[in-house]
Amino acid sequence: MPFNKQIKLKTAVLLPFVIIFLVTFGVIAFVQKGNYEQMVQDISNKQLTYLTNNVEQRLYNFLEEPFLANLNLSHNIGFNRLYQKGNTKKIEDFFHSNFSVLYQSISQMDVVGFGGINAEYVGFRKELDHNYTLMVQDRRTQNQLVIYQNNTISRDIRSVIENYDPRIRPWYAPVAESQKPMWSSIYTNADERQEITLSSLSPVFQDDQFVGVTVTDVKIDTFNAFLREMKHQTEADVYIFDEEHRLIAHSSAGGVVSWGTSLSPKGARLLTTENASPVIKASAQRFKQLKPSENTTNKNFVTYVNADRYFNKVTPFKDEFGVHWYIGVSISEPMLLGEVPYNQRNAWYIGLLISIFGIGIGYIAFNRITAPITSTASAAEHLARGDWTSPMPKSGNIYETSLLVHAFNEMANNLKASFKALRTQLVYDSLTKLYSREGLVESCSNLKNLNGCLFLIGIDKFRDINDSLGHQLADQLLIAIAQRLKSIFASDAYIARIGGDEFALYLPLVQNEQEIQDEAQRILQLFTTPYSMPNEPIAVNVSVGIVHNFDSSNMTVWLRNGSIALSNAKLDSTRISYYAPEMAGVSRKRTQMVTLLKVAIEKREFVPFYQPIVDLNSGEVLGAEALARWVSPELGLVPPTEFIPVAEESGLINTIGEQILVQACIDTVKGIEEGKWAFDFRMHVNLSVSQLSSYLFLPQLEEILRVTQLSPSNLALEITESKIVDNDPIILNNMVALKKLGIHIAIDDFGTGYSSLSYLHKLPFDCLKIDRAFVLQLNQDHLEESIVAAIINMMKGFKVHLIAEGIETQEQVELLHQLNCPQGQGFLFSKPIPYHEWPTNLVNMRQKTAN
Ligand code: C2E
Ligand code: CA
Ligand code: CA
Repeated sequence: MPFNKQIKLKTAVLLPFVIIFLVTFGVIAFVQKGNYEQMVQDISNKQLTYLTNNVEQRLYNFLEEPFLANLNLSHNIGFNRLYQKGNTKKIEDFFHSNFSVLYQSISQMDVVGFGGINAEYVGFRKELDHNYTLMVQDRRTQNQLVIYQNNTISRDIRSVIENYDPRIRPWYAPVAESQKPMWSSIYTNADERQEITLSSLSPVFQDDQFVGVTVTDVKIDTFNAFLREMKHQTEADVYIFDEEHRLIAHSSAGGVVSWGTSLSPKGARLLTTENASPVIKASAQRFKQLKPSENTTNKNFVTYVNADRYFNKVTPFKDEFGVHWYIGVSISEPMLLGEVPYNQRNAWYIGLLISIFGIGIGYIAFNRITAPITSTASAAEHLARGDWTSPMPKSGNIYETSLLVHAFNEMANNLKASFKALRTQLVYDSLTKLYSREGLVESCSNLKNLNGCLFLIGIDKFRDINDSLGHQLADQLLIAIAQRLKSIFASDAYIARIGGDEFALYLPLVQNEQEIQDEAQRILQLFTTPYSMPNEPIAVNVSVGIVHNFDSSNMTVWLRNGSIALSNAKLDSTRISYYAPEMAGVSRKRTQMVTLLKVAIEKREFVPFYQPIVDLNSGEVLGAEALARWVSPELGLVPPTEFIPVAEESGLINTIGEQILVQACIDTVKGIEEGKWAFDFRMHVNLSVSQLSSYLFLPQLEEILRVTQLSPSNLALEITESKIVDNDPIILNNMVALKKLGIHIAIDDFGTGYSSLSYLHKLPFDCLKIDRAFVLQLNQDHLEESIVAAIINMMKGFKVHLIAEGIETQEQVELLHQLNCPQGQGFLFSKPIPYHEWPTNLVNMRQKTAN
């Protein structure tokens, strides 16, 4: 296939379509994805910032309120000089008066207390039942820390702690030192509540003297509640942690204090990465991985939990009193955008699905559109390969493809018709509708083996029949012959017309000798009755060449051998000839003959023999006919019947004819000079049509006459009747020219050509030679009805010589004499003899009769 590197129409159209689609889809997807990401970034940023700000603000307030309250307490103590060495009664009363208000407005506040420089302590603690209890250590309690059941000093004591010194407590010492308000570090309450606490601390100055520290505990756990509430509303996970990554508050369930792990011993705060919430855990882990230097500012980052994307923001939270924490917020993509990501994904899936569906539809539609083109192409390919039976393409519904298909079908049908016609022409003989030679060979090639019998039937002298009947009637004759053949032989016979006048008959089942002979007889019988033609019935003679028992599966070879057998039958006039391998030699000899003839021409081995032409009245010799003989040293004396046909076929006749003509002219001049022949002696020389139809002939003849000095009136040229009906203008022209020169023209073998006589008046001629066959037919009984009589009658008005040929008996002379035939020629008078024997051998010369 030369089309290997070419792509199909379908691919050529669909591929760019699909590529464009994919690229477009890809670009849109890319841009969309970019836009989406941008949007997600924007929204997440805003949301995270908003949430962080919210938490920040809340946390700030959460811490500020107790801090301010504590500042206020410390200021009032100092301002109102409530501190008295060893007695906290005034402070207790001040606290007491403030407490109910403070506790209600600032719910995260837990313990409010005061530690004095002389180890005094007074404080109130919020209890679970919303009551508050008093704690005092001063002179009134003998400097022991007494925790009462109620909020006044009474006998109802919960517990007493000895040797308690507030000044060494972690909330006192740093403030005593810095004398500035501050936050304590976070500490875990060692009680069962597992709460973590942060204390707001403030120094108390009375009369510019540092007298103690006020402490307000903030229970951070209450902030957890806020964060949980926030999570409930926003679904954001929030966690707050310190610089050690330990949790301060978070939005997930559970506390922040460890029950004991490898990383956090019991009572310590949990690390952020130990959080129960996988979201917070992931966020914290990711945050930890970030470079420490990056920790200082806001950090936005992304984590993945359960295939969901989480956006995270960690923001430092600081205040001027020593809090240095971080707020982490995590928010999930679905939460952030609601259904948007799902819808987005679904939209892509639907888009993709629709696109695939679209491509599918496109593919089907395109297939339908191109189907006629594709099928046309394939049909064309079939046609090109000579497969004429392939189905024709269907036109479909598209205007242009329909046009194409219609045009193609029309063209293909025309082609098919032409091809069929051509094949019919090739395979069948157009005239007889029998097989042609090729048709026979082809149809026999379908036979398994050739072991039947081949008959080649050649019509004798068909050329003459053709010439005399005219082509149309001769064609009718051939058709009639074909019909007879068809009607006689069985349907399994292969009948062909393999040449103008040759029929072939192959009988596959005829094998044995007897059958073959029977069939041959049947063939001959076909021609025993004449064929009725419009004017007259025509008798047709045939020769048959037979091939059988021949070992070749090739009908062409059979036919060649049949042809040899037929030639043999014709040459031998045996009518039937069986092919024998030796015959091939004969035909080969023909070819060799041509070579020999060429040599003979070179050696001038062709000589004319002369046969006298006699006046039938007086017996006087009026002239002679020059008849060519081949005097071969190897072959002996070869008669013209053996070499003239070969010479005519091969074109050598022109040279041979010329040699004979030259010699005849020389001999005539010589004969007249020597007195052998009278001065008006007329020498007849035979001319082949091939010579007469040559432009060279006339100048050649003039040259011969000039050289030999023969008078044109001593020369007659014989032209066979059957050969000149071709109406060849050159022949006619030459004949006219010959006549002008004064040369006689004789029509030879007159009558055999079945000539219609109508053309006779066109021909310039001086002499008619009645064919030997008619002379042979002459008998006394039907003399007047004889063809010779008819010819003689017909020619009465014309000034032509009539010469009867082939007179062998005295009786024939007698009959011709009765019919007033003036001249004759034949063995009765003399056989053709060489010049030098002339006239010694002239025998049986009829002397002029008296009457
Ligand atoms: P044709 O021109 O009809 O010549 C007459 C033939 O009849 C000669 O045969 C002659 O020998 C033969 N013949 C004459 N009298 C009798 C007779 O009483 N009985 C019988 N049975 N035959 C007789 P030939 O010489 O064998 O020539 C045969 C044909 O060869 C000639 O027929 C002519 O057509 C052709 N031919 C001979 N010489 C030439 C030639 O030089 N040029 C050409 N083109 N054709 C020639
Ligand atoms: Ca002759
Ligand atoms: Ca003749």
